[in-house]
Amino acid sequence: MTVRFWGTRGSIASPGPSTNRYGGNTSCVEIVTNSGKRFVCDCGTGARALGGYLLANAPKPIEATILLSHTHWDHIQGFPFFAPVFIPGNRITVCGPKGANSSLPEVLSGQMEFTYFPVELEQLGAEIKYRDLTEGAHDLDGVRVTAQFLNHPAVTLGYRIEADGVSVLYLCDHEPYWEPLWRSDAEKGLLESILHPGDRRHAEFMNNADVVIHDAQYTSDEYPAKKNWGHSTYSYVTQMAAAANVRRLFLTHHDPTHGDLFLDQTERQAQAIAALLHSPLAVSCAREGFAQSFDRDAQNRHVSDVAASNGAVDSPLVLVIDDDEDLRVLARRALTRAGHRVTEAEGGEEGLAMMKSRRPNLILLDLSMPAMDGFEVLRRIRGGDEMSSVPVIVLTAHGDEESARKSFDAGATDFLAKPFTAPQLDARLRSCFARAGQRLSP
Ligand SMILES: [Zn+2]
Ligand SMILES: [Zn+2]
Repeated sequence: MTVRFWGTRGSIASPGPSTNRYGGNTSCVEIVTNSGKRFVCDCGTGARALGGYLLANAPKPIEATILLSHTHWDHIQGFPFFAPVFIPGNRITVCGPKGANSSLPEVLSGQMEFTYFPVELEQLGAEIKYRDLTEGAHDLDGVRVTAQFLNHPAVTLGYRIEADGVSVLYLCDHEPYWEPLWRSDAEKGLLESILHPGDRRHAEFMNNADVVIHDAQYTSDEYPAKKNWGHSTYSYVTQMAAAANVRRLFLTHHDPTHGDLFLDQTERQAQAIAALLHSPLAVSCAREGFAQSFDRDAQNRHVSDVAASNGAVDSPLVLVIDDDEDLRVLARRALTRAGHRVTEAEGGEEGLAMMKSRRPNLILLDLSMPAMDGFEVLRRIRGGDEMSSVPVIVLTAHGDEESARKSFDAGATDFLAKPFTAPQLDARLRSCFARAGQRLSP
């Protein structure tokens, strides 16, 4: 299955210089199975560009199933601009939750009344069918799609699409049922430790999914003022996905006020939460225009995707910066065995110089080194232009939470306590490459 983001913004479209990288169009995600069955999750303003893309590239006539989560503006405003609906012969099925007062066609035609729009719903040329969905499993175009209600001020459905041995969930818009998330007398990070039955059921819906695309509009600081508006924090979503053993999490429905730099930070903080829970979950902020294919062996395949898209004909190059020679030898052995190329530096200054000349795909960085320590190296990497997005795994003898937090604050991608084994290092590398995929892919 292939997932492609056409709109990642929540509430209102917000194009402009500050949202260039993550995108300004509202919710729209295209999911295509290996056999060509096409699903469009929500029709925010991103649906306009998707329509143009399909006219140019998709087999004709165009067939698609639109899965509306709900009918708030940011999820339907692109529908009248989705060009395939104007063309006779195309077959479009619009699915969504039955609203409390009006049907799907009534809601969609409401925003196309002549006061707001020049063309009426009845004038659209394509064959358009409507299907009201409720909770449970459905056969849509031969694909199993399970729907479950989300916690939002409007009637809203989340969708779990299963095909090609892969499960992809689209969960917008949703708010935690309860705070705090965990029972105080139970171990955090486990499904059974989730306090509220609604949140536990929501996590179970995601259980063992390959991909989860989830509303994460707010930070924990913003949330109290926006409680009951129907959106999640990235902290809640990351903890839920980690507990549900999800492999790949995309945070989306970005707040219109959150620019690219803010979302870079959100991404790093979400990754830190997953690392602190010792979860292999790969999490990143969804970016408009980003596409990725998933199969049963998604994790391994993604590593090769990243290497290929990075223009590397050779295997990925890992730079090890550590003053401890024994450690460098151990890391070199483990990395070479895993198929990576390795280059080494004995200290911070040398490491920074090597980054410029060799441009590694990933950096292993020791924290305590004489002269320039790892924190300072990390700050310079993140503060510079050229290598600011390279994944950095921090190595330290102090496996305590404070060092971890300090590293993540300085921009670490992951944190590995010494001593570590070769398989541990290999697993962390794979996870880091998967997380970095968003930045490294075209
Ligand atoms: Zn929304
Ligand atoms: Zn909404």
